[in-house]
Amino acid sequence: MKVCPVGVGVGFTPDPSVIARAFDLGVNYFDTANDYSNGNSERLLAVGLKGIPRDKVVVVSKTPAKTRGVFMTDLEDSLKNLETDRIDIWLLHAKSKPEDVPDELLEAGDAAKKQGKIRFFGVSTHDLDLMADRFVKAGNIDAVTFTYNFTMGTGREAAIAKLSQAGIGLTAMKVMAANGGVLPDFSAMTAGRGPGRGARGGGLPPRPAAIKNPLPALKWVVRNPMVATTIPGVRDVEMLEMNLKALTEKFTDDDEKLLSARSEEIRPYYCRMCYSCRGQCPKGMPVPDQLRILAYADFYGDFPLAQRSFAALPKEVRALRCGDCSECSVHCPNGVKVPDRLIRAQELLA
Ligand code: SF4
Ligand code: SF4
Repeated sequence: MKVCPVGVGVGFTPDPSVIARAFDLGVNYFDTANDYSNGNSERLLAVGLKGIPRDKVVVVSKTPAKTRGVFMTDLEDSLKNLETDRIDIWLLHAKSKPEDVPDELLEAGDAAKKQGKIRFFGVSTHDLDLMADRFVKAGNIDAVTFTYNFTMGTGREAAIAKLSQAGIGLTAMKVMAANGGVLPDFSAMTAGRGPGRGARGGGLPPRPAAIKNPLPALKWVVRNPMVATTIPGVRDVEMLEMNLKALTEKFTDDDEKLLSARSEEIRPYYCRMCYSCRGQCPKGMPVPDQLRILAYADFYGDFPLAQRSFAALPKEVRALRCGDCSECSVHCPNGVKVPDRLIRAQELLA
């Protein structure tokens, strides 16, 4: 399978004509999921691909299934939504612990392949370091989609190399790291209290930042030869055309300086998903999960996605209130203001 190093993340795309334009411009990799907007993202992709020879594009979708039964039902639904008889890459969606990828689901992947309903099978994850060994040992994982952007520096390189050497195809997601590293406008929410903390009882999401030159962030990822492709979210043709410049423009020293400055600017607000704070909260708060969900609202401008993702957290997690703690025992070595950000997540989404 040969893929364009810049693909399209369809999850936020509102207009199917963007898909057709992307194909015209040479993009052949389109990523969606069964659980994006209750299947509407898959349906939009199907509309956008109409008239394009099916074998000229790689269609990727995902299931959050925890059992073989749901895996198979979701697959049938996705085939229907996508108006196709085969999905090119079918991923288990957002698996963050090795036990979330049980043999039952691996066997379901093999069965779906034998039935000809998928070509390749894999997993998406936010925690590549923790999952890499499980993926290699599984033996039947062809492709992995993982969070990767400039804020992570060289932190993911060992895991990337391990998977690449095992012949697993790698797709990078969340490549723009919070709008290309540009802070959103928190002013609508913060009422003068500073962007780390939401106004109690306020409840307004921030205005997403205008994306200012996201190219350096994308070029940073594309230059890694072990990463086959990327799936930046694309809202319109202008954004698409900007992204595609990453195929021809070199990553420069000026890009490096810009990203370094942006990395510092977003440091208190943006969780780099290093997972080193895992298990530190005595009340069992899954800190990186809740911060990632807040990022959907704050940085990606998708408040409904943040609400849905928050609502899917376990009840006992949704009930936690960081404002009730006199002190937070979670230490973030990357400088995220953890309690402030969590209070904001709870005020905005709980
Ligand atoms: S909050 Fe900090 S320590 Fe925890 S995952 Fe995010 S960046 Fe890592
Ligand atoms: S403020 Fe309290 S509940 Fe929240 S993460 Fe810190 S220790 Fe856990």
